[in-house]
Amino acid sequence: MSSSSSAISSKPKSYPLVEHFYSLQGEGYWSGKPAYFLRLGGCDVGCSWCDTKYSWAMHGWQDYPIEEILSQVGSVPARHVVLTGGEPTLHSLSPLIETLQQAGYFVQIETSGAYPPPERLPDWITFSPKRFKPPHPAWYAIAHELKVVIHARSDFRWAEKQYALCTGAPVAFLQPDSYRPEAPQWIIEYLRTHPHWRMSLQIHKYLSIP
Ligand code: SF4
Repeated sequence: MSSSSSAISSKPKSYPLVEHFYSLQGEGYWSGKPAYFLRLGGCDVGCSWCDTKYSWAMHGWQDYPIEEILSQVGSVPARHVVLTGGEPTLHSLSPLIETLQQAGYFVQIETSGAYPPPERLPDWITFSPKRFKPPHPAWYAIAHELKVVIHARSDFRWAEKQYALCTGAPVAFLQPDSYRPEAPQWIIEYLRTHPHWRMSLQIHKYLSIP
């Protein structure tokens, strides 16, 4: 799944992390999987219901050299690393992805797709397009997982358009906006007649873990 590039590995790099922590993946296909999270700073997508608004600022975060990140990730036994944000693709991710993969990690990215994919692809792409900033078209062909947040009933129609654009047959999830109490029931009803979707719940919020 990963592309190779010797040029990538020659570039030293550091990344602004809002936070990094060991937890369970709370959403989507890998829900329940122990994973190390790297939350990169910066997002300009502007989702009104965003639950990580604290990560939007582009500057002011501590820069972590790749070696330091590798050391932190290596302090736990899990081999699954999640690159999230913010919008992680605002940063040049290829050196980080390559380093983690060469160290034997399974690298998952969570992205809105607002920017082009990195040259070095992660092992799993969770593509969560947003109405607020149209995604770069390249993501539709390479996503392993499509995840659409349902904030209003009109989002179902938009979700179907996104699904139709995906050419890589991703696993498709509808996830309720956690601030919209009616949304889970809307999704339950919708899935009865649209079984190509699955429901994603943010289990970390139910468990009160990061
Ligand atoms: S793309 Fe993600 S981080 Fe950015 S505003 Fe939307 S939900 Fe928040």
